[in-house]
Amino acid sequence: MSFTVEQECPQCGAPVELDETDHLLQCPYCEVNSFLFSDDYFRFILPHNAPGREIIYAPYLRFKGSVFSCGRQAVRHRVVDITHLGVPFKRFPVSLGLRPQAMKMQFVKVDTKGSFLRCFLKTSDLLARAEKHSSASDSGQVFHRAYIGEALNLIYLPLYIEKSALFDAITNRPVAKLPKESDILSPITDKHPQWKLTFMATLCPRCGWNLTGEKDSVVLTCGNCETAWEAKRGKFVQVDLAVVAGDRPDASYLPFWKIAVQTKGLEINSYADFIRTTNQPKAIQKAWEKVEMYFWCPAFKIRPKLFLYLSRQMTVSQKVLNTSGRFPKRYLYPVTLPLSEAIQGMKVTLAGSAVNKRKIMPLLPDISFSIKSSALVYVPFTETAHEMVQEHMNVSINKKSLEFGRYL
Ligand SMILES: [Zn+2]
Ligand SMILES: [Zn+2]
Repeated sequence: MSFTVEQECPQCGAPVELDETDHLLQCPYCEVNSFLFSDDYFRFILPHNAPGREIIYAPYLRFKGSVFSCGRQAVRHRVVDITHLGVPFKRFPVSLGLRPQAMKMQFVKVDTKGSFLRCFLKTSDLLARAEKHSSASDSGQVFHRAYIGEALNLIYLPLYIEKSALFDAITNRPVAKLPKESDILSPITDKHPQWKLTFMATLCPRCGWNLTGEKDSVVLTCGNCETAWEAKRGKFVQVDLAVVAGDRPDASYLPFWKIAVQTKGLEINSYADFIRTTNQPKAIQKAWEKVEMYFWCPAFKIRPKLFLYLSRQMTVSQKVLNTSGRFPKRYLYPVTLPLSEAIQGMKVTLAGSAVNKRKIMPLLPDISFSIKSSALVYVPFTETAHEMVQEHMNVSINKKSLEFGRYL
């Protein structure tokens, strides 16, 4: 379930509807695009119906994404969607219920009136809570867990105080009694939250052309100078880009992260090491001893089962691809999964690739990777009636799953 956000176009002021995970505001009125950036996760408020009241905003931390857990014999996965109260008050509603689905959220603005309670819930604690609720399906020892997030944000519920009771400022109904003698909220209140949303002009920093992407893109591309860009600290930073040469003019290009790593805690210094260590049924060629080890990962949101399948298939096959392809002028699938999330998935890919799982799984807690380099690689796929097929890598993806992944 995805929540809707209403935001004014920074150029012309028209109201534009976005999904909570969208980054690119495409104004249908003035046709100017703006990229939404914040150093920290996005913060939203639910608009209140209590004009004239002093509003207190209570924080709820939200995570939506895939959770992978590596047990002794298998990698299990599921989709998690959890929102939980971020302050330690028992009488507050623990979740937002249906509110965010029933109404449109807004970004917190510098001039949003009201005071904001600080969030005490850490992401790791929120995820541990999600874990606890699903412990039945996760029986047995777990050696490693990874969380690949699609949304991590803070949603504020508006409240106000009347006669020592706390009221929900959306429904104007009481939600909790406050102790008369002490002021419990003031010590944890921020009058002026520092959080800020930045609107970035989507112009190529190198050549000045318009960068292109879709609503949910986290990397934008320039079709003029054939470059790719991601936002960091309010600026567009260039991403290393490669395009695999396609045999067909009508190929569709799907983006993948290709990450070169140094492994600690396990002897994987080359592709040959990886094949040996994970016990693949492949005869090791001498040249592979000199081939650098890369992890591959989809650079787009997709169901966890397919995420693991694609990462594993492309990492194990590790085909030497001809990356002299020209930048495709069309059929570019948007990059919706940032590199930071792809990195979270590498250990899961290693675990999922291992044929000798009982041997590899217990080693996972002591294994770590340092990133040597990374690149975004567009790989050509051929479209059939129901699937997207990559013949060289022996990979196929159901078209419906690909569409569905964007609306997880
Ligand atoms: Zn506009
Ligand atoms: Zn450019």
